[in-house]
Amino acid sequence: MTLCKPLTSLLLLALIPPAFIAGPLPAQDSAQNRARNAARKATSPAVFGYRDFTAEAKIEKRFLAVPSAKLAGEELKTLTAEPHLAATPEDRKTAEYVARKFRAAGLETRIVPYRVLLNQPKLVRVEAYDSHGKLLMSGPTREHVTGDPYQDDPRVVMPFNGSSGSGDVTAEVVYANYGRLEDFNQLAAHHIDLHGKIVLARYGANFRGVKVYIAEERGAAGVLLYSDPQDDGFTKGDPYPLGPWRPATGVQRGAVQYLFKFPGDPETPGVASTLNLPDSARGTPYANQPRIISIPISAHDAAPILQALQGPDAPPEWQGGLGFGYHLGLTGGPSSVKVHLVSQQDYQRRIIWDVIGRVKGTQYPAEWVVAGNHRDAWVYGAVDPGSGTAAMLEAVHGVGRLLRQGWRPKRTIVFASWDAEEEGLIGSTEWVEQNGPALERAVAYFNTDIAVSGPDFTASAVPSLKQFLSELTRAVPSPLGGTVYQQWRASHPRQNEHLSQNEHPAQSGSLDQDNRHSANAPSEAGEEVRVSDLGSGSDFTAFFQHAGVPSTDIGSEGPYGVYHSVFDNFSWYTQNADPSFVYLQQMGRVFGLEALRMADADVLPYDYVAYAHAIRSYIDAAKRKAGAPSDRSSSLGWKVSGQGLDALNFAPVQAAAARFSDAAERAHSRQTSASGNLAQLNFALRQTETALLSEQGLPHRPWYRHTVYAPGEYTGYAAVVIPGVNEALDAHDATRAAQQLMVLAQALDRAAQALNSVQ
Ligand SMILES: [Zn+2]
Repeated sequence: MTLCKPLTSLLLLALIPPAFIAGPLPAQDSAQNRARNAARKATSPAVFGYRDFTAEAKIEKRFLAVPSAKLAGEELKTLTAEPHLAATPEDRKTAEYVARKFRAAGLETRIVPYRVLLNQPKLVRVEAYDSHGKLLMSGPTREHVTGDPYQDDPRVVMPFNGSSGSGDVTAEVVYANYGRLEDFNQLAAHHIDLHGKIVLARYGANFRGVKVYIAEERGAAGVLLYSDPQDDGFTKGDPYPLGPWRPATGVQRGAVQYLFKFPGDPETPGVASTLNLPDSARGTPYANQPRIISIPISAHDAAPILQALQGPDAPPEWQGGLGFGYHLGLTGGPSSVKVHLVSQQDYQRRIIWDVIGRVKGTQYPAEWVVAGNHRDAWVYGAVDPGSGTAAMLEAVHGVGRLLRQGWRPKRTIVFASWDAEEEGLIGSTEWVEQNGPALERAVAYFNTDIAVSGPDFTASAVPSLKQFLSELTRAVPSPLGGTVYQQWRASHPRQNEHLSQNEHPAQSGSLDQDNRHSANAPSEAGEEVRVSDLGSGSDFTAFFQHAGVPSTDIGSEGPYGVYHSVFDNFSWYTQNADPSFVYLQQMGRVFGLEALRMADADVLPYDYVAYAHAIRSYIDAAKRKAGAPSDRSSSLGWKVSGQGLDALNFAPVQAAAARFSDAAERAHSRQTSASGNLAQLNFALRQTETALLSEQGLPHRPWYRHTVYAPGEYTGYAAVVIPGVNEALDAHDATRAAQQLMVLAQALDRAAQALNSVQ
């Protein structure tokens, strides 16, 4: 831990409004700092949500001293010693390990099982032939590099897609770039009919389930997904074991569940798959499952297929990094390449295990603060999700120390280790579905997943918690010196540059990410750090978009090319991400502090002024889109079902948003003065988020109930804002858009009413 230099401190003081500066760092204890902090305290409340932060600052200081880099490294090594796919004996072992750690810290701990439908692969084959019947490749090739100590374990599961269908198909191949809607539309513009064909698409740019979803919509018989070296392989830099990027044989496993319809157990949307849920209460699984087969392959296996493809040249931006020109595949005459795919998937109801540990709150026991991370991995999962679990265990370690010293939180804190996230956010979704009524009072869900793949702090959050997050990171030291906040801000231009050069950061993925931390974040003037919007792809989804619990998601990122491959292991981690585990320590501190600060707040630190501001900007953007049908909407041409978008009346929803905005301003001054009946104020603040849910849910996907945020039907990871309205506009459906504008206006009026109820 190093301190920022005095000069830097002075500069920062000039930039940071005093009200946003938290208590001193544990080690930042010079006379100069003490004097500065005393001066600050005298003039304003130090932390939003606290009438007087003095006592809490001491608790936080004691907490921050506990998380240990060394212990986190040991925990990561233990968690990643064996492959631990969901529902396997090794997964069960990690559940017991986490439960022991929770209990040792003094948490009241339970292992909570569910019985859910999961596939495991029995056989996966890929063969390709040219037009003369000559064999071009036969795979899958085993994932292999020189010198990796983990790759040869017989328990490493063969590359496959969760939720893939079973089947045996032989068909011609068409290259579809990233498999985005606009890519498929380009193929249609070339009059390439996908019926009965096999689509070859590269990973990146959207959630893999979306690629399969559109391919299925267009009549394809199967999908091959591959990792192009341009996106996370040798084009980026040295592959593992020389560097962090994906080796030629590395394969990205992953779920192709249609999670944008609903996540969780495919047989029980909205219902918890407890062990005693009878089979008769389980439905048919097809609503969020593909019917066609899909298989993930490596660049090594994709190359001979791509190289043999003929037909029209692929557009320049469709060219990848394999060192030859890419073609679309069909010649109009006989096909240049035929592929034979075999996928035999063993679908069974299998038992998974969440681990839940709680500390009961003294003052508001019904107001839960939930902090969670998944535990299951495709293989070893050192980054995804082992880094998150190790960070969480060190947060729990810190909370345990406070408990032993006699501290108790005001609100109940729940730590959760989710299972089967990789197959479709299953453990968290079932738990949310089981605890629905209690979660109406839950004040926050804090997620982490890929906690550490490098040094750059990233975050997504509901707008009401963006300020909370950036404020909190000012209290946590960075391994690079100064605070996490300072390093986050310093990396902001770097991350911006990264995003603009590469709109599809496939290296930062997980069922998890790809675009989770990019896109859709309106960069507000004067914003110092970027907090993105919550899309989907990790365990916050059920909490936020189904149950309306205000949520955040944090991580620390860097070059990461081994996502969902056998190479995401302890050896890769220590060579590339975090050799001394100091970022695990950092993330344990940030994660734990989120829970502590929220649990002990006098007034819930929700910033509805920022929320209202964001919503008004979303409405303005939708209005512009409706008024000026754009290129973007023409790319959706096949779905045009009506017109008259320019005649839509946005005035009522704008008026409702203005009322919400006014109510938010008034609530904000109540929050900062923090007088009167705080329990009543807090209740109203919490009800405001619930008010933004709609009873009927989104059109065609009622499980998603939030009127402001949902995963995009055609992006999957990235958020679609005011989704009911925007997706109706994208579909050129004026009737639906008008109806969704009304649903949104009603939600905003309910939210304003909730805020006004304590004026
Ligand atoms: Zn993950």
